[in-house]
Amino acid sequence: MTFRAPVSEYEFLLNNVVGYGDVSATDRFAEAPSDVVSAILNEAGKMCDEVLAPLQRNGDLTPAYLENGVLRTSPGFADGFKAISEGGWIGMSAPEEYGGMALPLTVATAVNEMMAGACLSLQLAPLMSQGQIEALEHHASDAIKELYLPKLITGEWSGTMNLTEPQAGSDVGALSSKAEPNGDGTYAVTGQKIFISWGDNDFCENVCHLVLARLPDGVPGTKGISLFLVPKFLPDADGKPGKANDLKVVSLEHKMGLHGSPTCVMQYDGATGWLVGEEHGGMAAMFTMMNNARLGVGGQGVGAGEGAYQHALVYALERKQGKTASGSIVDHADVRRMLMEMKADLFASRAILLACAQAIDMQTATGEKDWAARAAFLTPIAKAFGTDTGIRISETGVQVHGGMGFIEESGAAQYYRDVRVTAIYEGTNGIQSMDLVARKMMDGGETAFALIDEIEERAERARATHPNMAESVWQACESLREATEWLVAQEDIQDRFAGAVPYLRAFARVLGGHYHLAAAMADQGGPREKLARFYITRMLPEHASLLAHAQAGAGGTFALSLDELAG
Ligand SMILES: Cc1cc2nc3c(=O)[nH]c(=O)nc-3n(C[C@H](O)[C@H](O)[C@H](O)COP(=O)(O)OP(=O)(O)OC[C@H]3O[C@@H](n4cnc5c(N)ncnc54)[C@H](O)[C@@H]3O)c2cc1C
Repeated sequence: MTFRAPVSEYEFLLNNVVGYGDVSATDRFAEAPSDVVSAILNEAGKMCDEVLAPLQRNGDLTPAYLENGVLRTSPGFADGFKAISEGGWIGMSAPEEYGGMALPLTVATAVNEMMAGACLSLQLAPLMSQGQIEALEHHASDAIKELYLPKLITGEWSGTMNLTEPQAGSDVGALSSKAEPNGDGTYAVTGQKIFISWGDNDFCENVCHLVLARLPDGVPGTKGISLFLVPKFLPDADGKPGKANDLKVVSLEHKMGLHGSPTCVMQYDGATGWLVGEEHGGMAAMFTMMNNARLGVGGQGVGAGEGAYQHALVYALERKQGKTASGSIVDHADVRRMLMEMKADLFASRAILLACAQAIDMQTATGEKDWAARAAFLTPIAKAFGTDTGIRISETGVQVHGGMGFIEESGAAQYYRDVRVTAIYEGTNGIQSMDLVARKMMDGGETAFALIDEIEERAERARATHPNMAESVWQACESLREATEWLVAQEDIQDRFAGAVPYLRAFARVLGGHYHLAAAMADQGGPREKLARFYITRMLPEHASLLAHAQAGAGGTFALSLDELAG
């Protein structure tokens, strides 16, 4: 299956929908105007199409494995990682002083998504390094930054993120890994971590683990957690990988999908580590990495959705069944419905992803608190809606294939199996939704209402050219406003939590209408206007049932006793 990175889609979105011009108009990002970004996207797209996409099946058919304690990666993955490193794609938004390109995160987000569409399991490796680079940049000592950042950015070394333990998943504060001061400025880290993505590989000369652990005087819960950098090989006096550290990969998980990405059980036995950030300030440092990773994982969902869509379209164009104008199933109305829904939701989720990245760039460039609030608000939506969309599209992709979708040789199922985990890791989508209706509404809904106002303003402007579509978006937005008012008025947080998932999805649906409307205005008479009409007429109305669900409170969800649930 050939993959074509959606470069022109990105160009259109950046230039017409999410206001990339505001980013490149800042001093901070003045060196990345639209034409430069186009050149970058084209270059990255070429690598995705030619180098990464051919590796996608390898990861599934020949997963990573352990051989006498040595991790062997899937065929071709070492070359793929080399191409990503040599292209500079790991350090796209990293500081120039350490060898990065200092590009806007908006551009990095687009490139990450294209790489995910080409080969999701390999793309997770640079994504992990990018998160680590950002955490070190903001929280590590100068000595650590000088030694580690250039090597992580060139891809000579790779990064991982170690939070999860058997008893500490969503509840990170329950972790029991320990760190004892060695008396020389280093710490001895001991504990077991599970589900560690790319916990090892055979293509980087060192693997650097960011590990959450508790110091002897660390209080229980998240407040007592510290963050440590624990490399596989201890750097020698010249900064080269030296003695092996006291850590190992115990085993690899057998997973539903994403087989090319080794998911490791890691054992630390008094391994030497360096503190990153403050003592007991581990969660603050880790949040830097997690926010970056949440946006990145949202992009994984959209990317995988793109791959699944392209795969399904090729099949639909070739498969002959029944009488249609073209002779192929693509002209059956129900198959068209599936393809249109896939395409319309890809557009919506990609626009939300980019809008979130754009807000982060504006926050970086201006330091304005409104941009910070907008970025924080959009992050859980970009993560949850991006990944749910990838899952839904890849599941629909299986359906487009009919029986062949259920047969592994067609490759349709791989997209679904691979992307399924994205709704689970980096904070499940349930946890993202709770974050949206609780922490992100601690301002009494101010950030949400500012965004709602903006959506309505665009709808008002669109009335002149697209009265029906504009009215639908405006009405949906009013319903969203009422639901948001209801949510912030609830005193019992359980009443918010019970409807958090449908609320997040409804918000994303309305945002999708907002961005589709912008596309329609920019492409009057063109295909994007037609796609917008499809979305606004047929998919946006879903917001109504979602909002009814969101405002129903917790009572109903607890209506059945545990016995009745089992009965
Ligand atoms: C392939 C893969 C790769 C991974 N990579 C990494 C990695 O690199 N590093 C790392 O540290 N971890 C990694 N993880 C772990 C991942 O982040 C966790 O699986 C995830 O955070 C969920 O934790 P859990 O599995 O313990 O589920 P649980 O926390 O047990 O959740 C089970 C269910 O309960 C819900 N739930 C839990 N708590 C609450 C709550 N307070 N309110 C409402 N609902 C709740 C969840 O939403 C979920 O539906 C990976 C996992 C997988 C499968």
